[in-house]
Amino acid sequence: MRGIANAALTSRGGAASIRRKMTKERDFGPPPRQAYSGSLLERAANFRGDDAKLAALYQHRRAGVYVISGESIVLKAQRAPPDPLHMPDEARALGTVRETVFLGLVDDAPRFGVGIDAAAADALKSRSDLKLIDLRTIAVQGEVDAVHLPPLAEAKAILGWHARHRFCPNCSAATIVSQAGWRRDCPACKAEHFPRTDPVVIMLPVAGERCVLGRSPRFPPTMWSCLAGFCEPGESLEEAVRREVAEEVGLTCAQVRYFDSQPWPFPSSLMIGCHARAVTEQIVIDKSEIEEARWFDRAELNLMLARQHPDGLSTPPPIAIAHHIIRDFIERGSGVLVS
Ligand SMILES: [Zn+2]
Repeated sequence: MRGIANAALTSRGGAASIRRKMTKERDFGPPPRQAYSGSLLERAANFRGDDAKLAALYQHRRAGVYVISGESIVLKAQRAPPDPLHMPDEARALGTVRETVFLGLVDDAPRFGVGIDAAAADALKSRSDLKLIDLRTIAVQGEVDAVHLPPLAEAKAILGWHARHRFCPNCSAATIVSQAGWRRDCPACKAEHFPRTDPVVIMLPVAGERCVLGRSPRFPPTMWSCLAGFCEPGESLEEAVRREVAEEVGLTCAQVRYFDSQPWPFPSSLMIGCHARAVTEQIVIDKSEIEEARWFDRAELNLMLARQHPDGLSTPPPIAIAHHIIRDFIERGSGVLVS
């Protein structure tokens, strides 16, 4: 087994250098449009079972640690912009560590996520050299260099999974962390539990020059956005889009076209952006989910996106995939439905 692992390490080095070269040459296509997408981390999953290698990576002189407690990210505030990366010794000194997860490598520099308990985080709030702030605000306000947003999303999602999955769903015994934080094992029934990601469809029903936006009761009073909902078991993405649109606003949709996706670690979603062709017109709102919904034409959408609408109506900011789903329709009209 050791020989196999070492062979994998060797090949991984080659893959990492290819990945870096491709990244520099932008062979992955255009840069990410929304926050949390476009990670430059090589996850190096083959290291996860190698405890000696992981220990060496944690001691690496360029190792960096993202420290998280619940919704709070711990930033170093001495410089501008604040730095989310801590040295391993600095991270350990911040408080009782709940879990440590190996996130991957950036240009061979190891990156880890560390979860600290809530009491430790509370004690840090009074320190002037630190800033505790949630990940949405970090993205909206541009609090850190954007290159940190994808690994912060990765760290928050998986540390949140650990916090909510300390016991075996099969037999209820306490589980233990394995595979560098990427699995929890049950010592009683031997079940292995893996982190989960919940697919969410987020879509814009369109018909000719118009589309439908809705308002959740949670939104600021002037903000309108795409409809969204969780995929259900046994459902394709297209079926989930049609069902959610029918449930929330009473419209029937035909073709569904994939647009783009966005990790959304609140707590563990993957937003799957789509456009859908609406083939009926009358809106019937499900008041339990949507406060308002109506048709908008492209000209009005353009004013909303540019924050120039005469009534102050707006769409979500560019950190959110909804902004880009709407922008694509403004730019291409019903061309969004052409494969
Ligand atoms: Zn069990």
